[in-house]
Amino acid sequence: SREIQLAARPQGAPVDSDFALVERELGQPGDGEVLVRNLFLSVDPYMRGRMNDTKSYTPPFALNETMTGGAVGEVLASNADGLNVGDLVLHDQGWRTHALLPARAARKVEAREGVSPSAYLGILGMPGLTAYAGLLDVAAFREGDVVFVSGAAGAVGSAVGQIARLKGAARVIGSAGSADKVAHLTEKLGFDTAFNYKDGSVARLLREAAPDGIDVYFDNVGGDHLEAALSSFNTFGRAALCGAISQYNATEAPSAPRNLALAIGKQLTLKGFIVGTYSHLFSQFVQEVGGWIASGQLHYDETVVDGIENMPGAFMGLLTGQNTGKMVVRL
Ligand code: NDP
Repeated sequence: SREIQLAARPQGAPVDSDFALVERELGQPGDGEVLVRNLFLSVDPYMRGRMNDTKSYTPPFALNETMTGGAVGEVLASNADGLNVGDLVLHDQGWRTHALLPARAARKVEAREGVSPSAYLGILGMPGLTAYAGLLDVAAFREGDVVFVSGAAGAVGSAVGQIARLKGAARVIGSAGSADKVAHLTEKLGFDTAFNYKDGSVARLLREAAPDGIDVYFDNVGGDHLEAALSSFNTFGRAALCGAISQYNATEAPSAPRNLALAIGKQLTLKGFIVGTYSHLFSQFVQEVGGWIASGQLHYDETVVDGIENMPGAFMGLLTGQNTGKMVVRL
């Protein structure tokens, strides 16, 4: 197997020398194990947190060990009941071309007509469920809400905006980091309006995009975006605090939002969440979102990078916005 190890803990933005490509011999599957050839590997923003030596809801990656992460692959050899050669499986032994793992650590997934297996790393996987559960459960979305989502052209954000539209939002507003992504949101994904957060003050851009205020904010970015949303909230607004990617490479503590006390007078609900808490929604989510994909009502994008040797670059590109939709690595 060719694998990517963490060679050094990144200081600020990760650089090439933080990663090392190694080769490792894998044996044959032992009792209850399967050998999987990975087809697609996932790069996700949470992995940046795991590269630091700090306690979080997931433990840190160890230095000079192969990292882990989402992967979909095909079973090459099986020594376990319930999984056969050729089965498609979703598991967390990513950052490597091949994986030897207990069958119970792999979830068998269906090959879906017209949908790449990589969808199980994005729209039909962890990011999709994050969008679905975060909007519908955590933010308690209701028909007629005005919804604002940041990181809107990414894996989670693009699903949030479209699910809000399909569930009857009054207006869906998105922010993203380039003119091309903004055009993509309104022209392809059905957002009512969108802005490039690099064009000026986020507070002013949001006020112009939502002159009558917002009811739901789905936060992927934190910082200035959360501060702007607090100012634009209507009474009884609800925020799902999903991520704060503007701060993941920060070496100093952030100051914004300075207006957090607005949550009091406006009687807001701001709720953080971890997608793993919502795994009970997985089947319902795949059924509903899979249906929207099949009927063409929901669009999903992927930015595909080829080759395990380019995986560190794909991860660094994810953190700097080189992806539209889900960033995956194809082997
Ligand atoms: P994305 O596909 O959205 O990729 C990351 C995007 O972040 C980039 O494309 C870039 O887009 C944007 N970005 C980078 N730096 C900044 C910045 N300084 N300010 C604003 N945007 C920035 O990733 P995901 O959809 O996988 O994840 C989105 C968020 O959701 C992350 O914060 C992640 O941590 C969180 N998350 C949380 C989960 C949970 O359980 N709570 C589960 C899954 C994800 P652009 O070009 O627009 O800048």
